[in-house]
Amino acid sequence: MNIDENHIWHPYANIPNKVPTYHVESAEGVYLNFKNGARIIDGMSSWWCMIHGYNNSYINDAVKSQIDKVSHVMFGGLTHQPAIDLCEKLINLTPKGLDKVFFADSGSVSVEVSLKMAIQYWQNKGQKEKSYFVTPRGGYHGDTFGAMSVCDPNKGMHHLFSEVLPKHYFVNQPKHDNTDEALSDLESRLSKSHKKIAAMILEPIVQGAGGMNIYEMDYLKGARALCDKYNVLMIVDEIATGFGRTGELFGCNHANIEPDIMCIGKALTGGYMTMAAAITNQKVSETVGVLMHGPTFMANPLACSAAIASIDLLVESNWKKRVSEIETILRDQLMPLQSHQSIFDVRVLGAIGVVEFNEELDMKKTQEKLIESGVWLRPYGRLLYTMPPFVISDNELLVITQAMAEIVDDSIK
Ligand SMILES: *Cc1c(COP(=O)(O)O)cnc(C)c1O
Repeated sequence: MNIDENHIWHPYANIPNKVPTYHVESAEGVYLNFKNGARIIDGMSSWWCMIHGYNNSYINDAVKSQIDKVSHVMFGGLTHQPAIDLCEKLINLTPKGLDKVFFADSGSVSVEVSLKMAIQYWQNKGQKEKSYFVTPRGGYHGDTFGAMSVCDPNKGMHHLFSEVLPKHYFVNQPKHDNTDEALSDLESRLSKSHKKIAAMILEPIVQGAGGMNIYEMDYLKGARALCDKYNVLMIVDEIATGFGRTGELFGCNHANIEPDIMCIGKALTGGYMTMAAAITNQKVSETVGVLMHGPTFMANPLACSAAIASIDLLVESNWKKRVSEIETILRDQLMPLQSHQSIFDVRVLGAIGVVEFNEELDMKKTQEKLIESGVWLRPYGRLLYTMPPFVISDNELLVITQAMAEIVDDSIK
């Protein structure tokens, strides 16, 4: 009996699962070791997370040493050194002004918390009618209800839950060449509806799971200015873009903006454990007062210790140079694919390389072919993309880009 196939739900899948699952027995560096003996390069960093690779001895040691002290303790009324140390590091790393840290247990939860912060902020200011959000189309902010309600209304899960999801305001998607137009759409929405809008939420520079869209930093600058002009808070969701992925430490560093609330997650613990945070400024924390949220596993000490170790590794490494080298290789190898007749667009920023096809890819067949080439990627719709661990070698990266090029070649035959 196949327990996995018949009894376990995988992400966005049914039971029995129509797409094969590959059994990982162990992993080290950029390699996943499958039970069948295959050794596969992870070009996904397990969904943006494993920036330092798997089985990293420094993070391993940090977690091992913490587990002998205390693995978990409730955060209501109690505190611990890993939370304090991690908080301090995050305050130093994130844009100026962000210095009040709410630890959450997953990215989606940190988004829920950020939305609650924004609503409570305006309630306490006596402007209860400011309870809606504005967000660009094409975004992705998680799978819980609040987060879902600000995901792209067409590509997301809105149609399944349209009766129960709150209705928010969607504005034009910023792209690599439409900043003025997208900003003027945002301004016209804000000028009409700002009295009802608590905050704008967006993924800075790169919209991830909603379509791997890279846009101009001038949009971020403009959006910040409009949020100020119309008295709307700005929430940046850095869950995918954070910790160096786009070539800057955070996506909003490209535009040098200071958001009111920032969500981080994914690579926060170097992919070791589930943890996220919503970080805000004095203005918001002061006005919010008591924040009505408190997850059971808030600030889990093991997760904090992994996050501290991961941040130490990042800060002490020459990550910026490495990400820029990865970007150069991705550009050199992937950009030429743009001329193939089956390709709609190729986009590269930092350690992110995206090939968009004209037609949807067959996920199962494409994945099988990639695995034959020794590469793990998860094609999605018309997209084939990679966001490798920063510790990948040039040669390993070339194995990934070569495998992607072969998929492109195959699609023409
Ligand atoms: C992954 C992701 C989330 C959700 O995080 P989870 O940990 O899966 O809940 C939210 N926003 C963005 C931009 C993400 O990439």
